[in-house]
Formats: sequence, C-alpha cells, structure tokens
Amino acid sequence: MAVNEERYQEIISELLSKKVQLVAVSKLQSVEDIQRLYDLGQRDFGENYVQELTEKYEALPKDIRWHFIGHLQRNKVKYIVPFVHLIHAVDSMDLLKEIDKQGRKNERVISCLLQMHIAQEETKFGMDEKELEEAVGLLGTAETQFDNVCIKGLMGMASFSDDQEKVRNEMQRLKSLFDKHKHVKSEKLEIQLLSMGMSGDYKIAIEEGSNMVRIGSLIFGERKK
Ligand SMILES: *Cc1c(COP(=O)(O)O)cnc(C)c1O
Repeated sequence: MAVNEERYQEIISELLSKKVQLVAVSKLQSVEDIQRLYDLGQRDFGENYVQELTEKYEALPKDIRWHFIGHLQRNKVKYIVPFVHLIHAVDSMDLLKEIDKQGRKNERVISCLLQMHIAQEETKFGMDEKELEEAVGLLGTAETQFDNVCIKGLMGMASFSDDQEKVRNEMQRLKSLFDKHKHVKSEKLEIQLLSMGMSGDYKIAIEEGSNMVRIGSLIFGERKK
C-alpha cells in the first residue's frame, strides 16, 4: 500500500491540461497515505462509507474537500452533511429531500450531483431519464422548497468491462443527458459538473467529455479488502 507519487504527478498534469478535476478516491486507504497525497497538494478526496469518512474527517486537515461518492442511505445523511463538500450519488428525490432537511439543520447549502443509471449491469444505482427530467423540472424552476441543496451536475459509472466500445457508449449516453440539461440554470440547479471515469476508464471518460474523474487504485495502489 503506497501512494504512487510519480503516477499522481503524471495524472495531475494530464488532467490540468484538459481542465478536468481530480477526486482522489481514498476509500479503504490509510490516513497516512491520504496525508501523503495532501502534502503533494491534493485537496479533493472521495469516500464511499459514512463511518470511515467521519473518522477520516476528524483525523485529517480541515481544508480537505470531502466528496461522498458511494451509495448513501437516508438515515446516514446527517453524519456527513455538517462538512461534506459534494455528494456525487444522489439517486432519488427522497434522498435529496433528506439532504435538504439536514442541510437546513446545519445552515448549509449542500452541493449534489444526480447519479444516472448508465451501465447495463443491474447492480449500479442511479436515476433513469424520466427521473432526471422530473428532478430538473422541479429544481430548475423558482420553487420555494429545496433551499438547502444545489444540484451541480451529473455522475455516472459505466460497466466494469473490457469492452471499450460498451463503456464508451454508456459514457456518451451520460454526456448527452448532461448536454441536454446544461443550459438550465436556477438557484438550486446548475448542471456544470460531469463526474465520470475511474482508474480503468478515465481516459475514455475524458475523451467523452468528463470534467471530473474519480481515481483511486491507480494513485493509491490496490485497496485492502
Ligand atoms: C471506488 C470508486 C471509484 C474509484 O475506483 P478505482 O477503480 O480505484 O479508481 C470511483 N468511483 C466510485 C463511485 C467508486 O466507488
């Protein structure tokens, strides 16, 4: 388990030239390794598990921007809302309502991405096109509800597959949904971020228009199970 500093620098300069943001996915990685990457200048880190995130938040520098990228259960929203920077995987209006409610309690406006279901695999969470339309319709107008969330974009995960064309097709679908809604702008919705691409497929993701990639194992090495 060691941070691959050289590869990190390579990825950073590649992403910089393409204006793509890096979320370093640190789930199941040690506090020491996160600190090492922090010392190299990395500030955006992604975590999947609520308890692990709250422990790392306590242990690490407070200017880290914590991204919650995993599937979030409604009853756990309250633990991360006080400090989270961006919640990537909002996959239902019920979850968004809970984030809004906890945001209000904490007097914060919580930035969120809507997770779209793009993979053919059934295991992946996310909204379908119809649910996205409904969410955009609701938040893209001057509604009085949802004062404490702001939708900043879309997130998706392609299939884990060696079939690059399949991965590319799924990403193109997400990009077209992104393009369709990126003109909508309200106080609570502004589709600007497209969080797409991981260690295995981030190059394809960037080619297909991603502007935020979530890379873990390529930088940190394999995760302990
Ligand atoms: C774990 C995870 C990643 C990073 O995966 P790597 O293959 O290690 O880069 C990215 N996005 C999500 C949603 C994840 O759960």
